[in-house]
Parts: sequence; structure tokens; C-alpha cells
Amino acid sequence: MGSLWRECAGTHRTPGSRSPIPKGVGVWECWWRRAVVSMAAALGMPPFVPAAAARSLFARSAARWRAPFSRAAAPRRFQLPSSRPRVPPSRPLYNFASRDDKIQAPEDQSEIIFIGTGTSEGIPRVSCLTNQSKTCKVCSKAIELGNKNRRLNTSILIRYVNSVGRFNILVDAGKFFYHSALRWFPAYGLQNIDAVIITHSHADAIGGLDDLRDWTNNVQPFIPIYVAQRDFEVMKKTHYYIVDTSVIVAGAAVSELQFNVIKEEPFVIHDLKVTPLPVWHGHGYRSLGFRFGDICYISDVSDIPEETYMLLKDCDLLILDALRPDRSSSTHFGLPRALEEVRKIQPRRTLFTGMMHLMDHDEINEELAKLLKSEGLDVQLSYDGLRVPVNL
Ligand SMILES: [Zn+2]
Ligand SMILES: [Zn+2]
Repeated sequence: MGSLWRECAGTHRTPGSRSPIPKGVGVWECWWRRAVVSMAAALGMPPFVPAAAARSLFARSAARWRAPFSRAAAPRRFQLPSSRPRVPPSRPLYNFASRDDKIQAPEDQSEIIFIGTGTSEGIPRVSCLTNQSKTCKVCSKAIELGNKNRRLNTSILIRYVNSVGRFNILVDAGKFFYHSALRWFPAYGLQNIDAVIITHSHADAIGGLDDLRDWTNNVQPFIPIYVAQRDFEVMKKTHYYIVDTSVIVAGAAVSELQFNVIKEEPFVIHDLKVTPLPVWHGHGYRSLGFRFGDICYISDVSDIPEETYMLLKDCDLLILDALRPDRSSSTHFGLPRALEEVRKIQPRRTLFTGMMHLMDHDEINEELAKLLKSEGLDVQLSYDGLRVPVNL
């Protein structure tokens, strides 16, 4: 065992040496793991079984050693929010409570995954947690991981299944894309990004383009981006080094994006027809919604031009902007206007998105549920991580 100890110590003094022990493993853990593996080898066990067991044994034993000094032992008043659940990546990290969550989409079932459902600043708002003179009910709830009021930038992922395979088509990658992807990609077994469609060029829709480099460095060679000309012009300024990679220093890693300029007419991604739904997002500023099959998605809208209503006919699921409960802003529908539009468009079902911190998930949904009885309107707020099986 003494030679094993020297070997482990040596491993860490020789950077880059070809060791069976992963980087970042300390001498003690290295010794522990290899001791278990070699004992198991003597008993004729395959190496991966004892290696995994050694990892877990070491983790438990190390936790016991650390226990008296851990956060758990600190006075309750100073306790940090350390309750991040340690769950295997294949399990979702939130509470199952909705009818949609209970439906596990089969492998061959297309689905919409709500990557984010909140407004630009995210919920909770930092200022709501730091202002001693006011109490924000929604942001207080949203601190808790798994609470449905916790919302990041509006975005959906269409997990599209056809006879050729499964494709992940993302709509928007905003400022918080990394955090959303970290939460939902491992949880839902998502790996590649086969296309990104851009609704408009505000930071909460394109701020995460830089983070796509993790995919193009480590998962796939490039990502096709579908973007309107006016938004591509904005990207040439905000993300100039991604659009024109000749300006970057040789060897520096940036996202490898392939830009496809779209017009306000249908286009096809992996056999899926995508129809742009042009809308106004503030006076004189155009944003695009998109229709996939009978699913219509409009995340940023203050007014719908008359010609776009034609494209919204026979909509099965409408996903629509609803910023706040009382009124519209100059750039977004509020809930009353959004409901007016639902009555006009008459989709079979509607899920609202893009909610700010004045929208309490459970309270608003309780009120909206009454509209099903009174008017036959199936309307609810969506939430981050919601998955809805769809036919495309
Ligand atoms: Zn708040
Ligand atoms: Zn916007």
C-alpha cells in the first residue's frame, strides 16, 4: 500500500501524466480508489464496479470527516441555500405537479420544452431580494429551486421526431441561456442543438449566442442559426467576432455558427416547416413568432398585424406573451390583452410565457382555470422546464 501511496502522490506532481485517476482527484482519494480496485481485482471483479463503489465510499467517508465544519453545522441564521438537489442527470430537477409533467414523452414523440418563461431580468429580481423596505411575494417564492415562479429568459426547444431521427430546434438563446441549458439539457437527456431560430435581437433573445461555443467545441461542428436580416445586422455589431471569425486571434475558441437569413415566409428545418408570424414588439419594431405544425409561438408582442391572424388559424396550441396581470406595456401584451387575443384567435389551448414578477404562478393559474368553465378557454401560465407532447 506504501508504493500505491507514492504512486498517487507522484501522479499529482507530474501534470499531464497518463494516470487512470481523473484530474482533480486528491492523493487520499486516489489511494482509496486504487486500493479498492486492486483488492477487487484480486477477487476477480471487473474494474468499473469497484471504481464506482470506491468513488461513492470515498464521498461518504469524506463527507463524514467534513461534517463538523460543513454548512449544515452552521447556525441556521447564516445557512446558505445549499439545498441544490444531488440527483442523477436523467431525473428532472423540479417538482412534478402539472398534467403535462406526468406525461412522459416516448422516444418517438415530438415535444415542446419550455427552456425559459420569464422576462428579461429573470425572476427572482435581485432588487426584490435586496430592498429591505418591500416584500415581493413572487420573488420570495422564486428563490426556491423548483418553484414555478422561478423564470429565466423566454425560450422554447422543439424536440422534433421524424422518420430520419430526433432534432432539437431551439427558439432564442438569451442572456441566461447557459443557466437554462445547465438545468434542462442534462435533466431531459438533450445533447445536440440542430438549429436556433431567432425571434428578434434583444439581449434576452440573442445574449446567449456566445455560450453556444460549448456545443460547437465539444458536441457538434457548427450550429445553423435562422435569423431575419434586420436582426443579423444587429448581431454583426453585438457578436461581430462570431459573425466574422477572421477577426479573432488564431486558436481562440468562439461559437461556430452558420447564419441563414430568413424572410417573413415559410422555411424548412430538417423537414419541419416553420412559418414566421410577424408581430410588433413596440412601436415600429418587428419581432417574429413562429408556427410549427399547429403550434404557434409568439413570445414578444405588443400588437398583431391583421395579415398575421391569417397564419394563426386552426391553432392547436398557442404560446403567447403575457408580461403582467393588470395591463400591457409599450412592448408586451399584459394578461387582459393576451386573453382578448386568445378569444379572437381561438386556439384549442393556450400557454402564456414571458411573465414578470407580478405574475404569481399558482394564483393566476387558479383564476385562469375559471375561464375554462365560464368561457371554455383553456388558458394557463407555462413555467420553466414544462414539457408538452405535440404532434408535428
Ligand atoms: Zn419581485
Ligand atoms: Zn424583446
